[in-house]
Amino acid sequence: MLKNIKSKFLLGYSLITIAFTVTLMGVAYLTERQELARLALENSTALSRLHADLISSEIRTRVTALQAVRSQITESDGDMALIIKHLATLMQLEQVGFLHAAYVDEDFNITDYNGVTESALDRSFLDDERWYTQEFHVTPPILGRYTNKPIISIGVPVLNDQGEWQGEVLAALTLEYLSERLSAIQLGEGSYAWLTEEQGDVIAHPDESLILKANVFAADELGYSGLTVIGNKTLTEATGYGEYYDANSGESKIVTFAEIGNVPGWTLFITTRKDVIFADIGNILANVLGASAILMVIFLLVVMKITSRITRPITELTQQVKNSVNGHYQPINLNQSEDEIGQLSRAFNETITALDEHAHNLEAMVEARTQELNTAYSELEQTNQALKEKNTILEEIASKDPLTELYNRRAFNVFAEKEMSRAARHDSPASLIVIDIDHFKNINDNYGHDVGDTVLSRMAHLLMRYTRKENVVCRWGGEEFIILIAEANLDVAQNIAESLREKIAGEAFGPLKQVTVSAGVSSYKVGESLKDWVHRADLALYEAKALGRNCVRVSAQ
Ligand code: GH3
Ligand code: MG
Ligand code: MG
Repeated sequence: MLKNIKSKFLLGYSLITIAFTVTLMGVAYLTERQELARLALENSTALSRLHADLISSEIRTRVTALQAVRSQITESDGDMALIIKHLATLMQLEQVGFLHAAYVDEDFNITDYNGVTESALDRSFLDDERWYTQEFHVTPPILGRYTNKPIISIGVPVLNDQGEWQGEVLAALTLEYLSERLSAIQLGEGSYAWLTEEQGDVIAHPDESLILKANVFAADELGYSGLTVIGNKTLTEATGYGEYYDANSGESKIVTFAEIGNVPGWTLFITTRKDVIFADIGNILANVLGASAILMVIFLLVVMKITSRITRPITELTQQVKNSVNGHYQPINLNQSEDEIGQLSRAFNETITALDEHAHNLEAMVEARTQELNTAYSELEQTNQALKEKNTILEEIASKDPLTELYNRRAFNVFAEKEMSRAARHDSPASLIVIDIDHFKNINDNYGHDVGDTVLSRMAHLLMRYTRKENVVCRWGGEEFIILIAEANLDVAQNIAESLREKIAGEAFGPLKQVTVSAGVSSYKVGESLKDWVHRADLALYEAKALGRNCVRVSAQ
């Protein structure tokens, strides 16, 4: 995978881009998360105050309506029929939505808007001195007998001229009615508003099972860990916020609160799921990541294209150089661009041309050298041949007598020694004939030295002619000759010698009518030296001379 430049480049680029994007997103996420949490809290706190003010003004509207009835009651001067009429009118006001309205006089007789009077009102109901001392008083909610819904009562005192309590105008209201007003303010997704009264009891909540059952000061016990602390905060602060964990739903939540101005101890809470707060940033992050991924792919494609443009010529050049080297330095197709690839291509081509030239020069050199060597070799052959020939000639010269062209004494010695060992080895006979021209001195003296030479030459010629080829004929010195005859015993040799003598005596030698020879014959005895062998033939020759010449004698020994 990482063998070529392209893949290395792409991988490096991708890693850097991914690292860059992830870092960017991470930093953005952390920063934005904090900012978003702060904004959400701010927003929620503002909403809490808004809701609290709304509830407060709803109460105030009703208090005002009750106060209007109170002044009418004061003016009616104890006329019960009139009082009942005013109460009935109050009940008809749609915007206040009272469930019930009644007048309590100073003897605790209670008369409702229908004109029903009960004298025996439970006095404990009016035990709280706030009924008498305050501008108005709101009771904690109680479950309505018929509606089974939390109901609150609002009371305004009727005072005489001295400011003494004369009675109370009372009206009942379902909390649901107030809750409906709350829903008029749009809350974000995952947010809801709820109310507590001064004892901490929940009096309004989307989850009705909590109403008058849950208490914010003991919320942790119900599985809202952290909420008790926030509840306690409401005792000292008009607005505030905090976080808690709802073990029932498994969700982390933030909560903001604001006190409700007109009802002491009442608090409005707005709870928001934490994940909802960060859902937006999650979406933003997903969008940014998606866009980054698309951009990355586009960049990657562009980079791939660019790197291809860079690496393709390199790959092509590499292939061309390989082909060129394999194909005996064929020139490569030049890349004409002015960039590094073009330069590289030209440099390769120059190198290849130089290599090609070098290879050609080398081939030519090798050919020339081979040619030179061949010539030298054939010259050497010729020289060798000539030398051999010369050697042969030299050997001839060295082994032959120039006048008679017969072997000389040196050559004879070689032949004789060979024949001696052969004869000894095979136990075969070998014989010598020594021949001397009779009275040769006289020939020289009478006819001159040149005629002597001619006689010697003719004598040699005749000896060759009358002997067999395998017999070795030599000039032993002066007018003496020696003939080596292999495979011949003394008798055979003697016969040959006799025959030679006879034939020579029958030949003419130029101006001389006859030339005779004497001969001595000896046969080889195993163990004797050549010298001794020749000597015995010589002795036989002397004998022949002594006997009058032109005869043959054999060595008796
Ligand atoms: P014999 O019958 O006892 O052999 O007597 P001869 O005269 O043949 O013997 P001798 O030894 O007295 O003389 C040999 C002579 O041969 C002496 C010498 O001058 C002569 N001679 C030796 N070599 C040559 C040669 O190459 N050419 C010529 N023309 N004469 C030669
Ligand atoms: Mg002699
Ligand atoms: Mg002689």
